[in-house]
Amino acid sequence: MRTDTPTVIGLDDYRPSDHLADTIHLDILLHPTATRIVAETAFRPNPAGRPGAPLVLDGDELRLCGIELDGQPLPAEAFEASPQGLTVLAPPQRPFRLRVVTEVDPTANTKLMGLYRSGGIYCTQCEADGFRRITYALDRPDVLSVYTTRIEADESEAPTLLGNGNPGEAGAIPGTGRHFAIWHDPFPKPGYLFAVVGGRLGKVSKPFTTMSGRPVEIAVHVEPGKEPRAEYALDALERSMRWDEEVFAREYDLDVFNVVAVSDFNMGAMENKGLNIFNDKYVLASPETATDSDYANIEAVIAHEYFHNWTGNRITCRDWFQLCLKEGLTVFRDQEFSSDQRSRAVHRIGEVRTLRARQFTEDAGPLAHPVRPNQFREINNFYTATVYEKGAEIVRMLKTLLGEADFAAGMTRFFETCDGTAATVEDFLDAFAAVSGRDLSDFARWYVQSGTPVVTVRTEYDPAQARYRIDLTQETPPTPGQAEKGPLVLPVALGLVSPTGAAIAADCADLRPDGVHVMAGSRASLIFENVRERPVPSLFRGFSAPVKLRLDLGDDDLLALLEHDSDPFNRWQAAQMVAMRLLVGQATSESGTPVEASLLRLALALGRVLVVESERDPAFAALLLSLPSETEIAQEIGSDVDPDAVHRAWLAARGTIGTVLAADLAAIRAATEPDGAYSPDAASAGRRALRNVALDLLASADPAFGEREADRQLAAAGNMTDRLAALAVLSRIPGDTRERALARFAEDFAGEPLVLDKWFGIQAAIPEPGTLDRIHGLTSHPAFSFTNPNRVRALVGSLALANPTQFHRADGAGYAFLADIVLMLNGSNPQVAARLLTAFSTWRTVEPGRRANAESQLKRIAREQNLSPDVSDIVARSLSEA
Ligand SMILES: [Zn+2]
Repeated sequence: MRTDTPTVIGLDDYRPSDHLADTIHLDILLHPTATRIVAETAFRPNPAGRPGAPLVLDGDELRLCGIELDGQPLPAEAFEASPQGLTVLAPPQRPFRLRVVTEVDPTANTKLMGLYRSGGIYCTQCEADGFRRITYALDRPDVLSVYTTRIEADESEAPTLLGNGNPGEAGAIPGTGRHFAIWHDPFPKPGYLFAVVGGRLGKVSKPFTTMSGRPVEIAVHVEPGKEPRAEYALDALERSMRWDEEVFAREYDLDVFNVVAVSDFNMGAMENKGLNIFNDKYVLASPETATDSDYANIEAVIAHEYFHNWTGNRITCRDWFQLCLKEGLTVFRDQEFSSDQRSRAVHRIGEVRTLRARQFTEDAGPLAHPVRPNQFREINNFYTATVYEKGAEIVRMLKTLLGEADFAAGMTRFFETCDGTAATVEDFLDAFAAVSGRDLSDFARWYVQSGTPVVTVRTEYDPAQARYRIDLTQETPPTPGQAEKGPLVLPVALGLVSPTGAAIAADCADLRPDGVHVMAGSRASLIFENVRERPVPSLFRGFSAPVKLRLDLGDDDLLALLEHDSDPFNRWQAAQMVAMRLLVGQATSESGTPVEASLLRLALALGRVLVVESERDPAFAALLLSLPSETEIAQEIGSDVDPDAVHRAWLAARGTIGTVLAADLAAIRAATEPDGAYSPDAASAGRRALRNVALDLLASADPAFGEREADRQLAAAGNMTDRLAALAVLSRIPGDTRERALARFAEDFAGEPLVLDKWFGIQAAIPEPGTLDRIHGLTSHPAFSFTNPNRVRALVGSLALANPTQFHRADGAGYAFLADIVLMLNGSNPQVAARLLTAFSTWRTVEPGRRANAESQLKRIAREQNLSPDVSDIVARSLSEA
């Protein structure tokens, strides 16, 4: 294990590699505990590098078994080797071939980086620094090589052998029980996109013909027997490939495209060229085992990894600081895909909820960093909501700023000029500047400045002049390492709405015809003429910039937006704002309930809107009925948060809304009784979402009724969505019914690890003092394992991220539990440990007692010897003062 203090790597330290590696021939002899890797690489000095420099190859926990240069064994004095690296001291100043033999133990590899075994299947994960755990290499994204991989294994153990690129020669090795397959990838790529798979796998496949008429075989490989559950992923893959042709004119470029599902996986999925490896959670689905959100996630993740073939693989990153170049852009692309496949408004609201819950929280705490960080100690810790989700928001703003046509032309130019290269954020922006003729240097600040801008709005109506004025100011609070902030370029999509619902035609010189004002400085004033009645402004329509909005509007104005705005996002947002004010007021006031009247008004307005929306767009109606989460409320309060008070406010508000709307909600339930077979399509999923939100609110108002109704739904449910929704409602109502339901569920799905994850997750999220003991007990459940990241995330992650009252227990027991788990996983799987540890990132915002408890647990972790770089980086940043 690495025990050294990780060194800080800076963006400004970038220099090109001294050597290039044009081709790599790998011979991988798979064996459960002693896999031998023979790597023959054609190196040459890089003309852009330092002449005469040694060849310094990266390694990580490697064992060197042999080394030859141009066919001759390399004498011991000519190189230095350790598990962490291999240096050829004076390599030839001309092209040469280096043959390196290493040996690794895939079974012992619990870090799940490099080559490892998952349920008997050999697989790899090389992003970011995993290739160096297979062989010594120039393991950096700007060194691109053409790979040829020969894979050999026992035929009985691994009948399927898959690699990157196109399949070549394959066959048995007579008399040995072993066989081999050769794969050749003609597209030069960095080591992080390398992959091999070997195992006993079933598959579903179909032919795909690309836009230029080339035939491709697309396939999804899963554990034998689970093939029917891979059909939806295969269908999503086919739709993704077609969509990328239609929308971005991107065509697939190999003869085969393989997806493999494995059960032990640190992340969601990995876009290795032509051989995507997936966490099986994002592949396997059947109506009996997967929820509507599972189906939607599978569609999104399949699309995301496929889209990387162009944004990530054909055009890769020069260095890891440019991670957002591939991730932010690809998240934007998968969001657009999902929006085209589903309801755009509903999808947008979902994106923003995720952004606020995860990225805004990150931006407000000690782990805040720019979308393109300028330094890191452990790159694994930068696969964050900021790089991914905020990175996608920047691309979306760029599109709004430039308009459809220039954005499309810029993307085309980026594809054309950067294909085959390792690019930077500057290369990306240059493409758009070139086609639009615009200077994007101010806009580029979005990539380098961390923190969430706060936009404050003042409005003024002058009836005598029929003039309306909107003053906007923006300010970004300081974040670690960045005390001073500059103004950001904000595309403000806006319109005026009459409180009575009538249309308002107004003139504003500073508004583009498409209703967008581009705010470039810290202040802006918009004057509207010929405004005949006092309007309500609808600002940042569609969430046109990732900002926090401070509006000077009263509840009546916001409720008018809820009822009359033409922008569905702002209708939802208006209801959220009213609810948020009430919830924050309730959670921070010491006296009783001064907000009851406002809550009643909100509930009645929602009831009026529901009449139309529950028919027109049930998924949208379901979102209107969903209050801000406890995480969002805590974030809004910002300091000295008492999670118990937040929870009480949240419960009370749901109870009131459920009571006021009881008749409407019952009518919704009656009108949405399931009929016919389950289908995962968006319309059917929307009806189920609305039906289940109605159940949830009715149960909040009347737990006895909720218990009966949820129990009835659980018994009758023909699909996992309705079953799980009912179980979630029951889980919050203590008693025998709940315990019986939980026990029954575990019996029914005993052989289904992904379904049991839901069961673990629901129990870990129960907001009751007994939950921590329950979780302790569940860690010894036969289906639980600390070596499987999905299990750990389901049980421990749900406590840390989905159960604020129990994680933030006043006695500190929740923090101590998480710290124990982090320390336990620090050695075996540092990535998962570090990810769990980020749950502490809000520790400075809780009230002093809890804050002291959290700090003492963080310090306890920091004192530990042998901390992995992953964990030590997060704990140090979490504790740092600035
Ligand atoms: Zn990605």
